[in-house]
Amino acid sequence: MPATLLWAEGMEGRPVEISFEPASPDWKAATQLVPTDAAMAFTAPDLQYLMDSPTELSDFDLREWTIGEGDSEQTIRLAIHHDGTPEDADTYAEMAKNVVDEQIKLFGEAPLFDYGTYTFIADYLPYVSGDGMEHRNSTIISNTKGLYEAEFGQLSTLSHEFIHAWNVERLRPAELEPFDFTKANPTTTLWFAEGFTSYYAPLTILRAGEEDVDGYLKTLSRNLSYVVNGAGRDLRSPMAMSLRAPFVDAATAIDPDNNANTFVSYHPYGAMIGLALDLELRGKFEGISLDDYMRRLWQKFGKNETPYTHEDLKVTLAEVTGDEAFAGDFFANYIETGALPDYGPLLAQAGLELGPANPGKAWIGGSFEADGPVVKIASNTVRRTPLYEAGLDRGDEIARIGRFDINSTGDVDTALSRHEPGDTVDVAYVSRTGDGTVSVTLAEDPALKVTRKEAGDEELSVAEKRFREDWLGVERNEGDAG
Ligand SMILES: [Zn+2]
Repeated sequence: MPATLLWAEGMEGRPVEISFEPASPDWKAATQLVPTDAAMAFTAPDLQYLMDSPTELSDFDLREWTIGEGDSEQTIRLAIHHDGTPEDADTYAEMAKNVVDEQIKLFGEAPLFDYGTYTFIADYLPYVSGDGMEHRNSTIISNTKGLYEAEFGQLSTLSHEFIHAWNVERLRPAELEPFDFTKANPTTTLWFAEGFTSYYAPLTILRAGEEDVDGYLKTLSRNLSYVVNGAGRDLRSPMAMSLRAPFVDAATAIDPDNNANTFVSYHPYGAMIGLALDLELRGKFEGISLDDYMRRLWQKFGKNETPYTHEDLKVTLAEVTGDEAFAGDFFANYIETGALPDYGPLLAQAGLELGPANPGKAWIGGSFEADGPVVKIASNTVRRTPLYEAGLDRGDEIARIGRFDINSTGDVDTALSRHEPGDTVDVAYVSRTGDGTVSVTLAEDPALKVTRKEAGDEELSVAEKRFREDWLGVERNEGDAG
């Protein structure tokens, strides 16, 4: 809507009537706009609501169900524009329903949708661009793959965006108020608004029984690797990363940037802070978890839509734990500065082991691309990686590693496979300033992996088992974790 409509300044408060003329008679409308008696005519109370109301006109599959009872009954609609079968839509609707129920359980209640209806507008077609965007009573979720093709993996974005119905749409950062369409609206709290949403999106899918523990741990391992190894944390805290949103999620530059060295996305970064806080709360405070923190924030700031500040988030953590020093320390260490807790002992409480994903594997850092037989470094090299320390960077051609001529990206893997971490190899290169040979000291692949203790020969203790069940809610689906 903001890309489609113009508005006259000063008239933002006026109600709007809008009617559509679909290009085909079998098209329907999926939207959070307020329905009228006519099928294709809608209203919006003001400009803000109109701008916030994406609308799809197409011949989509529609699935509907209700949540709540009596006075609090509301309708959830899932409009899916796709090339799949009606059975795919049925399967996906069932999965969505379970995730929605789990999230209502997490927050203690559903948000009160403005007109009693929430609409998922899903487009799973090869010609769309993949995204997810939250709105007050709806979301647009899109993916280039069909549901069956992606094995219904689109559920992760659906899960993320529905959490936003609480966290962001109603539980809102103060800096975003009132929302100004004419400029960027930066806030320091995206580590919470996006990050904690990203923490709960896969967790509520797991708790709903729509994912198994190992699948969940795979996502966790990927995010943890990215955040722990994120060089940008040297430079910016989660609060400062949050302020990068206008440059990384909206008006991104088409010019090359150095985000690989200066930025860690507040989505996974915040998610891993959520993980740390959840595990610390469960370990230190009997019967208290991050779920309690989210429910308290919802009751204090979300339900009545009182925008929160950074300070509010800290004070509420102190209230939930009854421990002001803990809340102060957690914020000072992990949110106001870029340190990370030691995840090994935190995960061990749940009988999970954190270790290298590829132990003993020699690693040079960076990624490579081939143009015919010419192999180049494909992306900015990152501080503390072997390539960076050797002074090599994006665009440099790599001609030889050790005793191997490099004519394909596979040759890089072959050359590295003959070495151990710590070995020093000669690398022949061609850069903008000429060619040369440089000594590169290989490291161990820093990628991390979280595994179940019992996947090896060890047994879970009663305490670890209980901790894991309370956290992951896996009693019901433990059987298919393997
Ligand atoms: Zn989000």
